[in-house]
Amino acid sequence: MRAILTYHSIDASGSPISIDAASFARHVKFLASSRVRVLPLEELLASTDAQDAVALTFDDGFVNFEQLAWPALRAHGLPATLFVPTRRTGGDNRWEGRDEPGIPTLPLLDWDALGRLHEQGLSIGSHSRTHAWLTRVDASQLREEVEGAREDLRQRLGLDATVFCYPYGDFDARVERAVANCYRWACTTEFAPLGPADAPHRLPRLDAYYFRGASGLESFGSASFRLRLALRRRARALKRALGR
Ligand SMILES: [Zn+2]
Repeated sequence: MRAILTYHSIDASGSPISIDAASFARHVKFLASSRVRVLPLEELLASTDAQDAVALTFDDGFVNFEQLAWPALRAHGLPATLFVPTRRTGGDNRWEGRDEPGIPTLPLLDWDALGRLHEQGLSIGSHSRTHAWLTRVDASQLREEVEGAREDLRQRLGLDATVFCYPYGDFDARVERAVANCYRWACTTEFAPLGPADAPHRLPRLDAYYFRGASGLESFGSASFRLRLALRRRARALKRALGR
C-alpha cells in the first residue's frame, strides 16, 4: 500500500486538526521502523513500486511543527512536506478572521522559521495564499491564491513548488484546472490510499487524526487496515450525505 499521511497540529486539544504528542511519538516510532518506507512526497508520487510506502504531509505550517514534529522526524531521517498559506505566515489559523468552534487558535511559522526548516531539508508546498475557499473566489482571486502562492515561495525561499494542497480540501473542475496550470500535483482531503488511477491533481490522503491511539497506524497495509479505511470512508460519505 502507498499513501500520503496528513497531519496538522501536534497538541492535546483532541480537535480534528490535532494529534497528541504521545500518539505522534508512536507514529514516528512505527515510521522509523523498517516496516514501511517513508519517502519524500514527490518521490512517492513518481514511484510505482508496490512496496508499503508513505509520505508525510503537514498542513498549515503551525509553530508546533518546528517545536514538536520536526525534531523527532529529523532525528530519524524521516522526510516531510509542509503546506503553507503564504500570506498567513507569522499569523494564526483564524482563516476567516474569527475563532472556529472546536478548533484551537494556533500560531503559524514565519518566513525566518520556514527558511531555516527548508535549509534543514524540509520540503515546502503551496497551500494557497490566504487559506481561502477556492470554489468561492472569482477568477482573478483564484489566480492570486494559486499562482501567487507559488510566486511567494519562489521569492521568499527560492523554491519551485510542485505540489499544491487545497485549503479545506475545497475544489471543483475550475479550481483543479487553475492548479494544474501551475503545479504538477495537488493533494485533497479524500480519505484513501494512493491508487494506480489517481488523477495527479486529485490525490487522496489518509488523515492521521484517525490513527490516534494504540496500534492506529501499525497495521498499515494489512487486510484489517484496509477494512478500517473502507469503514471510515463509508462513515464519512454518510455524514456528507446527511449534510453534517
Ligand atoms: Zn489547511
